[in-house]
Order: sequence, then C-alpha cells, then structure tokens
Amino acid sequence: MLLDGKTLSLKLKEELRENLNFINEKLKLVVISIGDDEASKVYINKKRLLASELGIEFLEIHYDNVTESDIIEKIISLNNDSSVTSIMVQLPLPKYLNEKRILNTINPFKDADGLSAMNLGKLVMNEDGIIPCTPKGIVKLLNEYNISLKGKNVVIVGRSNIVGKPLFNLLLNLDATVTICHSKTKNLGNYTKKADILIVATGVSKLIKKEHIKDGVIIVDVGINREDGKIVGDVDFNDVSDKVSYITPVPGGVGPLTVIMLMTNVLECYKKQNKM
Ligand code: NDP
Repeated sequence: MLLDGKTLSLKLKEELRENLNFINEKLKLVVISIGDDEASKVYINKKRLLASELGIEFLEIHYDNVTESDIIEKIISLNNDSSVTSIMVQLPLPKYLNEKRILNTINPFKDADGLSAMNLGKLVMNEDGIIPCTPKGIVKLLNEYNISLKGKNVVIVGRSNIVGKPLFNLLLNLDATVTICHSKTKNLGNYTKKADILIVATGVSKLIKKEHIKDGVIIVDVGINREDGKIVGDVDFNDVSDKVSYITPVPGGVGPLTVIMLMTNVLECYKKQNKM
C-alpha cells in the first residue's frame, strides 16, 4: 500500500490555511540562496508557490557570489527585522562557506528549517523547538496511516544533519528503537533486514533492494535522484513492492510533506516569537 504524501500534504495545507486565519498579521518567510544549484531552484519555486497559496509573504534573497561575513551580516539584519517571521538558507551551500556558522546565526525563533544548533539541541533533549521539515513530515505521514512507532525497530540509512540525525532523535523521542546506518556501515542488509520501518535517505538511487528487507516492512524513501530524466528514490520500488506492507512513492511521498512542514514551521516561529 502506498503512503501517499501528496494527498496528505493537500490536507495539511488546508489545516494550515485555517490556522493562519487566526493570525492577524501577514507572515513573511525569507529564503537566502547562494550559487546556481539547479535542484535548489526547483525547491525554492515550490516553496514560493506554496507560500503564495497560503498568503505567506515570500522573499528570496539570492547571491551569485558572496562572502561569508556578508551573509552573516544579512542574517543578523533579518533577525532584527520585526517584519520577518522566518528565515531559511537553501542548502547545499557552495563549499567555500561554513554552513554551520551560517545556520547558527539564524535566531532560533526564526529558524524555519530547525537546523540551528539550538533547535537541533532541543530535539536531542526532547524539548519544544522547531523540528526540521523532512523528519517532521515523515512522522506526520506515519501518523496519518496509524503506524505506531512505540517499540518498533526503525532503521534509518543516512546520517545527514537535515534528515538522518534529527529523524533519529525525533523517533527516539517517540519511543521507537532506532538504528542509524551510513556509508561506513558494514553489511548494511544485516541491519535493514531487522527493520519494521526502514527509512532511507542516502542519495544513492535504488540502493535498497528486496534482499535488504524482511516481509511486511514499512518503507519510507526520502531519496530524490535524477536518472534518465526521471526522479527515482533510494529504494528500488519495483523490486521491493511485493514484499512491503507500505511504501512511499517517489515522487509523491516525502517531498510534498517537506515543503508543507516548512510553512507549518513559519507559523511555529510566529507563535514562539509571540509566546502563543
Ligand atoms: P547527504 O548526502 O547529506 O547524506 C547522505 C547520507 O547517506 C550520509 O550519511 C551517507 O553516509 C549515507 N550514505 C551514502 N551512501 C551510502 C551507502 N551506500 N550506504 C549507506 N549509507 C550511505 O544527503 P541528504 O540527507 O541531504 O539527502 C539524502 C537524499 O534525500 C538525497 O537524495 C536528497 O535529495 C533527498 N532529500 C529529500 C528530501 C525530501 O523532501 N524528500 C529532503 C532532503 C533530502 P556518510 O555519512 O558516511 O557519508
């Protein structure tokens, strides 16, 4: 059975629209983009479109080339600008920039992506903070299908700061037993075969095949890879589909949820700033 993120994202969009009606001010999201990453342009346009559908003001500040100190200065001025609800920096950044330093300059209450050390630290401590969009969307999707996490063996493949690591902490906070694998993991299949729920975020297309999974597993495929003009995931969908109980399609699984969670986080930022 498909875990349909697209349909859920439409439902969440309507819920968010209703919640935004209770706010008297127009919220504003500023996206900082640097360089000319093609995939980033696509993602930013998706964010722009969704923001406009929801009546959230959207401003992209784009640099072709910029020094780290100029970005830091810009973020500080946005932090101090009361008309700005939320800020995000589109990743990946060009290699010459220090991503951690830049993300940590964002005021944690304006941190739409939840990727500053303060918000990631709160997640580790199981405190109330802004939760990164993709992990938050994955939990929403599992909840929608009444898939409980408590006591489940969850295996995550991938340990990035934006997906694997925050997801690990989020699922642990929800009482799952979580294992995280990465490129140095030996005999990946030994781990993935034990998973009740397998979540894959590696950027390696069709990495996971039927020999890596047990019967009845639930698979969440985060990967977005471009192959022969098509988008494919990190899981070989056709190969595994007979063996799984649930699986996300790519596209139409996690992707649409990530974008809607960003907008949800803009509202969260507003609420935190206004102690709501
Ligand atoms: P990163 O490149 O930052 O991290 C990839 C992770 O996968 C690393 O931890 C790496 O291990 C691990 N890895 C790589 N190759 C293997 C392998 N052969 N076996 C096991 N582990 C491996 O990627 P992201 O987390 O940013 O993104 C992962 C994928 O998810 C990409 O396709 C990206 O486009 C997609 N994505 C999709 C989103 C969505 O909304 N659907 C949102 C964000 C990302 P190591 O740490 O050892 O290098």
